[in-house]
Amino acid sequence: MIKISILPVLSDNYAYILKAEDGDIAIIDPGGAAPAIDFLERNALVPRIIFNTHHHGDHTGGNAPLIARYGCTLAVPAKESGRIAGGNIMLTDGMRQSFGGEALHVFETPGHTSGHVCLHFPDSRALFTGDTLFSMGCGRLFEGTAEQMWASLQKIKALPENTLIYCGHEYTLDNAKFGLRIEPENADILARLHEVEILRATGKPSLPISLAQEKKTNIFLRAQTPERFAELRILKDRG
Ligand code: ZN
Ligand code: FE
Repeated sequence: MIKISILPVLSDNYAYILKAEDGDIAIIDPGGAAPAIDFLERNALVPRIIFNTHHHGDHTGGNAPLIARYGCTLAVPAKESGRIAGGNIMLTDGMRQSFGGEALHVFETPGHTSGHVCLHFPDSRALFTGDTLFSMGCGRLFEGTAEQMWASLQKIKALPENTLIYCGHEYTLDNAKFGLRIEPENADILARLHEVEILRATGKPSLPISLAQEKKTNIFLRAQTPERFAELRILKDRG
């Protein structure tokens, strides 16, 4: 099993540090370098590779300083390599990689950005969703259509229910409140809202969260058609 550490970065981003059983170290979406360097130094770890889920600065801003300091390899979505400096490995849909002796499955989830990828480590049951899926929410449609994002969410929905989801942002509380406006009778959303209120009040992340739980509480995953998804996304954007 890969050991995953959650690092709060910038105002509400999460970067993740992965430590494999063989000692291999990866960083996912370092929006800033300082929290990652601090964590790595305190734990005497040297990262080998950085993964970016998409090109936005709050997920890639730490790439350059981390590469300068540790000389790590940079794996970026192939379709966004023109917008991320210094990529050495191009991540493509259906690509199979290995990390620390475990499988890594890459799949493209366009919608938030046109080449966004999610990273799935099936042996460790971990899925890194960047800004495609948030707990009880999903990313805004900056570069894609509602149909594309809906199709991307269907790919996530098809993974095993016990998959643990690690998202790019701590938006859970806001998302829960919006979810309750859409589904006021949904007791699972209400229960999760209360749970997250306590976690956040004590400074703890609301992540990871299982796919099974998201299927009960995430209105965007619960949308049965792209049309319904599009409607919900518009309502959420209006705030
Ligand atoms: Zn983003
Ligand atoms: Fe982001």
